[in-house]
Amino acid sequence: MNFKNTLAFAHELDMEDPLKKFRDKFYIPLLYGKDSIYFNGNSLGLQPKSTQDAVLNEMEDWANYGGEGHLHARNPWITYHDMFPKKLAPILGALPEEIVVMNNLTVNLHLMLATFYRPAKERYKIICEEKAFPSDRYAVISHIRLAGYKEEDALIEVKARNGEFTIRNEDILSAIKDCGEKLALVIIGGVNYYTGQVFDMKRITSAAHETGAKCGFDLAHAIGNIELQLHDWDVDFSCWCTYKYLNSSPGGVGGAFIHQRYVTDKSFLRLAGWWGTNKETRFKMEKDFDPIPTAEGWLVSCTPVLSMAAHKAALEIFAQAGFKKIVEKGKKLSEYLLYILDDINEHSSKKMLEIITPRAENEHGCQVSVLVFENGKHVFDMLRKNSVIADWREPDVIRVAPVPLYNTFEEVYQFGEIIGNYLSAKN
Ligand SMILES: *Cc1c(COP(=O)(O)O)cnc(C)c1O
Repeated sequence: MNFKNTLAFAHELDMEDPLKKFRDKFYIPLLYGKDSIYFNGNSLGLQPKSTQDAVLNEMEDWANYGGEGHLHARNPWITYHDMFPKKLAPILGALPEEIVVMNNLTVNLHLMLATFYRPAKERYKIICEEKAFPSDRYAVISHIRLAGYKEEDALIEVKARNGEFTIRNEDILSAIKDCGEKLALVIIGGVNYYTGQVFDMKRITSAAHETGAKCGFDLAHAIGNIELQLHDWDVDFSCWCTYKYLNSSPGGVGGAFIHQRYVTDKSFLRLAGWWGTNKETRFKMEKDFDPIPTAEGWLVSCTPVLSMAAHKAALEIFAQAGFKKIVEKGKKLSEYLLYILDDINEHSSKKMLEIITPRAENEHGCQVSVLVFENGKHVFDMLRKNSVIADWREPDVIRVAPVPLYNTFEEVYQFGEIIGNYLSAKN
């Protein structure tokens, strides 16, 4: 598409936007007395206006029914989580029986590692990407140590090449091949939180399988942002949080995907709890664990209703908008942002910004990470003073994510104008 760096052009894109009415379904935070340009949905998605009612419904039912709400609430709490697999299936490219909504992300990662990292004498190594989100690294190393191995020996972190910001898929694939029969598991952030890079999950999975290893992805920055086909890509497991692109409340309930081929195998090892056992016999309080033959068999505890109410409200908006349309608009917004940042660079006498997010359409989602060569923190603070909410990452990167449900092309244009004016005044 031929973009133009003008307000009139941005307006035109907004007029044509099939999702333009969805912005009104969200609260837009104010900053310095005006609507902020909220480009931080990759960190915490905005609150849908419908969320308060959804949560209040459950509060009312709790007030009215007490414990009887488990059965008699408008959405009975015992089965509340059952609504999510169907809603999430198109977003994940997964079958409903492969999906369970539970816990929080890092907890789910631990549960998945307990199941899928089963090191044997010679097969114990884990491949992940260098500069993975620290929580993921902590979790992986915990399991290496719990199994009696040392991280120096067991953990292989694939790096970006010298002078490059992102990791080449081919380098991950060759690390997998080189590790061969020693490889137990590959675990990668499907979209890197820092650079916004989307990895080739399909090829990484099949390379891992060729060596006999398992493969999983952390989808924190992928879910609700890019198109996924977890089932067809043959991914073994995944987990995610719902408070980023899914707008499902701070610290809200997370989820996990376990491929169909495992879920009916009751002997498959896991960390078990009573909410994962056969629903027919759960309340007979029998001593033996009889796992539910879906991803629900990994549920441990009874589920957090208030947090799931927020998740429900948010996912209803996804269903109304249609996930395909969301992804399409997300791509267009980020392409426009890339175009505008390039335009700023072209028109300044010296290069002030470097975009470290990959350019190829299938290698990025909404997020664009911008390295600022000089005084990055000043630029970030200046953006805030101009009511832009973005995200600062030490030492020199600003992450900006215009998201399709509530951001506009005009905001992308305005963002460019603010940063462009600042940089040209410094130049
Ligand atoms: C956001 C994020 C987390 C946060 O984990 P929680 O358990 O939800 O606190 C972990 N890993 C990645 C890759 C993330 O992007």
